[in-house]
Amino acid sequence: MRAWTLADFDIGRRLGEGKFGRVYLAREKRTKYIVAIKVLQKKQLLKSSVEHQLRREIEIQSHLRHRNILRMYGFFYDHKRIYLILEFATGGELYKQLQEKRCFSERRTANYVRDVADALAYCHSKHVIHRDIKPENLLIGHTGEIKIADFGWSVHAPSNRRTTFCGTMDYLPPEMVDGRDHDEKVDTWSLGVLCYELLAGSPPFEAEGHTATYRRIREVDLRFPPHIRDDARDLIGALLRKNPDERLPLELVAHHPFIVRATGQKPPAVAAGC
Ligand code: ATP
Ligand code: MG
Repeated sequence: MRAWTLADFDIGRRLGEGKFGRVYLAREKRTKYIVAIKVLQKKQLLKSSVEHQLRREIEIQSHLRHRNILRMYGFFYDHKRIYLILEFATGGELYKQLQEKRCFSERRTANYVRDVADALAYCHSKHVIHRDIKPENLLIGHTGEIKIADFGWSVHAPSNRRTTFCGTMDYLPPEMVDGRDHDEKVDTWSLGVLCYELLAGSPPFEAEGHTATYRRIREVDLRFPPHIRDDARDLIGALLRKNPDERLPLELVAHHPFIVRATGQKPPAVAAGC
């Protein structure tokens, strides 16, 4: 792989800001190829003891190739900073678009859910669990396609690692709320939460404070606003099963009646003989 330096890029406007650094639009000088560069301060990474997390993010994300996973082209560093070269997602954050619209149409939701399911199935086939699927970590590409970003919490499956999340609790599955061992089926649960939030405008187990949210997650206290149709309720219910082994396999999401009806597209053919 080529050794990049900051001198290879023209840096443009700031695209966003994260906990550990900033993201800029950039253009590779020779090819004029547009990318996003995430700049992380070494000092801050060390202070928060997240170097291992960053190393994993780089290792994992740079090896994944899927239309719905944000590409990481490479990285470089100088004495103060680490730079990640990322695919530029022209549409920005799904989270922002959701805030503007409050909720999405069935068609838009179904397209996103089908594509995220496909990307997650691909990750799982490589024994990678994302563990942090939520609208803040999904970006939109130039044809409106969804891209999974932010592999900072991802691990190689299976995992019994204890995790201390500081973001939203709304997407955590019961087994992680209880600090039990977990496997790739945590992502299947989060996909169910995502499907619900995109249709309803807020996540299913929202409550005042962590304890109350945890209780609702543990009890799978699922209630639907009246406008959510039966086939959508069925899909969400099939993803949000307390027992991870009972959750709908991701490969079957594209075949579910809600996805087929709402996308108006035939599901992919199932390979013959299996
Ligand atoms: P946090 O941990 O708080 O989520 P972070 O350090 O992981 O932050 P990112 O979420 O990766 O940082 O990036 C911060 C913001 O920059 C994003 O929310 C998004 O708005 C923007 N951004 C990041 N990467 C890209 C990209 N490849 N294309 C377009 N915008 C991006
Ligand atoms: Mg982020």
